[in-house]
Amino acid sequence: MRLSEQIEARAHQLGFDVFGWTPVTSYPLDRYRAWLDQGFHGTMGYLAGEDAIAKRGDLSRILPAVRAVITVGSNYHTRPLPAALDNDPARGVIASYAWGDDYHDVLVPRLRELAAFIEDTTGQPVANRAYVDTGPTLERAIAAQASNGFIGKNTHLIHPDWGSWLFLGELLIGCDLEHAPAGVAQSPAARGTCGRCTRCLDACPTGALVAPYVLDARRCISYLTIELKDPIPPDLRPLLGNRVFGCDICQEVCPWNKRFAQPAQEPHFQPRSDSMAPRLLDLMALDDEAFRRRFRASPVKRAKRRGLLRSVAVALGNWGDPAAVPVLASALNDTEPLIRGHAAWALGRTGPGASRQALREALETESDVWVRTELAAALRTR
Ligand code: SF4
Ligand code: SF4
Repeated sequence: MRLSEQIEARAHQLGFDVFGWTPVTSYPLDRYRAWLDQGFHGTMGYLAGEDAIAKRGDLSRILPAVRAVITVGSNYHTRPLPAALDNDPARGVIASYAWGDDYHDVLVPRLRELAAFIEDTTGQPVANRAYVDTGPTLERAIAAQASNGFIGKNTHLIHPDWGSWLFLGELLIGCDLEHAPAGVAQSPAARGTCGRCTRCLDACPTGALVAPYVLDARRCISYLTIELKDPIPPDLRPLLGNRVFGCDICQEVCPWNKRFAQPAQEPHFQPRSDSMAPRLLDLMALDDEAFRRRFRASPVKRAKRRGLLRSVAVALGNWGDPAAVPVLASALNDTEPLIRGHAAWALGRTGPGASRQALREALETESDVWVRTELAAALRTR
């Protein structure tokens, strides 16, 4: 058995569904630079640093000894979100990758085990670097280069046998793997194209897919609810609907997923209790300790309480039900201005009477300039 085949067999034993590798360690940056030049990365400045860009183009800047990149994928989508939850405006929809345990905690140790296996098998130390999602690499381009699929118009990597519900990881290694013998047919995993389909562009609620293969992150619900640390722009708030952490829409509509996606079996990625679309009123009532307890070892903790409750307030405003007035009025006294300001916006869209009274009272004592602006704007909406 060739070394690459032994590594692939071990990767599958470790639970990775998709495996590939490539000796290519430099990648063209023109499209990436054009994307940055248009400001589509928003506030994610770490993507635009010259050092981070250079590493994406030349992996030897990360690992000088790099000779090959192993790329893996783990299927995480256990089931479709039930329509009754998706369509319930009183619930906050969470993207399916966050229904179970934090994938970094699960997959990085497995990649490290794979690296140890390579050292054991070759009988020598092998320089390596493992990344799952967080490294300065063009991980979808690497996966495509390794014949693990193609990049769709929704910007996700689409594997022809698995679809796009995949966590991707890379292991940079400082040893050579064999090249396929000349004349061997290209791996079937390299098949696939979007063809004339535009379903993801048509379905995106915020128009974040500004062209095929081009995402303006500043409009994407995943960015707005997870990466953005600032207020959500008021013109985009109504478009979030009841999505409070991430967004699956451009993957849900993809025919490759409808046809090929298989339910993930990995125990760590099975939905935790009430993790798919919890009641907004329950989420809005979480204090620091309750947030920590509920989302311990969950990807949702990345948004922090202030980020999640900001999005929950927006979803409550989109629901517009008077049942939310007490919890929103209470949120006007939260220690976090970000939460107070979005609660004000939500109250401006929620029932008459009590909400107006709460907004007026808050305006009398509020000292934060931005929150005062939100309170005043909310009062003007009546
Ligand atoms: Fe649009 Fe949602 Fe896809 Fe972002 S994740 S591009 S908001 S459909
Ligand atoms: Fe491509 Fe259609 Fe899937 Fe979008 S929905 S990624 S256009 S196949």
